[in-house]
Amino acid sequence: MDDCIFCRIARGDIPGDIVLEDADFVAFRDINPKAPQHVLVVPREHIISLNDLEGRSDGIGHLLLRFIVKVTEQVGVKESGYRALTNVGPDGGQEVQHLHFHILGGEDLGDFR
Ligand code: 5GP
Ligand code: ZN
Repeated sequence: MDDCIFCRIARGDIPGDIVLEDADFVAFRDINPKAPQHVLVVPREHIISLNDLEGRSDGIGHLLLRFIVKVTEQVGVKESGYRALTNVGPDGGQEVQHLHFHILGGEDLGDFR
C-alpha cells in the first residue's frame, strides 16, 4: 500500500523510531506518545484491523502476541506492567487503517478508558 503511513514506515520509506523488528512485524515509537513508553506494533503486511485476522490459519495472531511480549521486554516494561490495545473502526477511534497494537507503559496507567 503506497499511501499507507504504517506500510511506509515498515518498508523504511519514511523514518520511524524503530525499537524492534523481525520478518513479520515492526515496532516503532508513537509520534504523539500518551505514556513514557508508547510503542506501536504493526505487521509488515497491510492488514486493516483485528477483524481481518478472523479466518486466518497462518498463526499470525499468535506470532503478533509473542512479538508484543518481546517489545515489552525491549522497552523495559515487561515486569513493571503495560497495556496492549488495538483500536478497531469508528467507535474504537481507529485513525490509521493498518492494524496496530499500542503498547503503553513506564508509569501507573490508572483505570482503563
Ligand atoms: P489509532 O487511533 O489509529 O489507534 O492510533 C494511531 C496512532 O498512530 C496515534 O497514536 C498516532 O499518534 C500515531 N501516528 C500517526 N501517524 C504517525 C506517524 O507518522 N508516525 C508515528 N510514529 N506514529 C504515528
Ligand atoms: Zn499499511
